[in-house]
Amino acid sequence: AKSCGRGNFQFFSAAMNAATHERLLLENRLWQALEQDEFELYLQAQIDLHSGAVIGAEALLRWHHPELGMVGPDRFIPIAEESGLILPLGDWALQRAVQLLDRWRSLGLGHLRLAVNLSARQCHGTGLLPQLDRLLAETGIDPALLELEITETAAMQDPERSRELLQQLRSRGIKVAIDDFGTGYSSLSYLKLFEIDRIKIDRGFVKDIETDPDDAAIVSATIGLAHALGLEVIAEGVETQAQADFLRGKRCDEAQGYLFARPVTVAEFEVLASTAETV
Ligand code: C2E
Ligand code: CA
Ligand code: CA
Ligand code: CA
Repeated sequence: AKSCGRGNFQFFSAAMNAATHERLLLENRLWQALEQDEFELYLQAQIDLHSGAVIGAEALLRWHHPELGMVGPDRFIPIAEESGLILPLGDWALQRAVQLLDRWRSLGLGHLRLAVNLSARQCHGTGLLPQLDRLLAETGIDPALLELEITETAAMQDPERSRELLQQLRSRGIKVAIDDFGTGYSSLSYLKLFEIDRIKIDRGFVKDIETDPDDAAIVSATIGLAHALGLEVIAEGVETQAQADFLRGKRCDEAQGYLFARPVTVAEFEVLASTAETV
């Protein structure tokens, strides 16, 4: 770019909006970032709505970019998906998560579950099951403490392969949750096709639960449907006590959201999980 003339530079800066510029900054460094250990897993507590206990956490990626500071996954996961980096990055996140479960056993936190997000590429590639088998064999953790979150949209890209994958995961004792439930424009028939343990109600439905009767009806019906199918339900994006009360009243099993805890560092989460047993 330095060798370009002044005219060229002006042309580019005019054409390149802020979003494109940021995207280039992120894209340029993304592959290096993994080698340089710039990623971190943050943990957001998941709460049993009836006892108030912390029952586990969802692992959420963060990137400490040297120039941009802390970058959230909404900004880099799509780029990582396109470039293929999501595969090594997803491997890294899983490995880190299993290490944490292993560590928690020795810290007296061996009851905690850890949920990890899977990308579409991980679901449809061939590397996931061998990696999981290796991690489980190396650590000897209880597979039931590991939960994999798969969005409806990712799963429905290739329903037959997803069905096979979920069955393989379940046969190892690993838990499976359908993430962003209800947002994917897919029919409910996949609930018959896929072996899953839990439904995660998208925070888009939770947000206006107190004021929008449609959202309230959808959430309430989703909880009823899940329970009728023998599945557990967790609601995400719970920000107010009124939302938590509504969900508890509808017999929702678990919740996650700023009301209880924001995503925090592993060290902060470990303190929270050892002390705050009730909300
Ligand atoms: P998600 O799986 O739906 O994760 C929940 C997102 O909601 C997180 O955003 C979390 O910080 C945010 N959140 C939690 N509680 C509240 C709340 O009460 N109110 C509001 N407004 N937001 C809340 P985050 O961490 O920015 O992650 C965004 C998305 O990035 C995730 O959405 C997930 O799709 C993706 N992601 C994060 N980590 C990974 C990963 O390791 N692998 C893959 N493939 N995707 C990931
Ligand atoms: Ca998730
Ligand atoms: Ca979600
Ligand atoms: Ca979401």
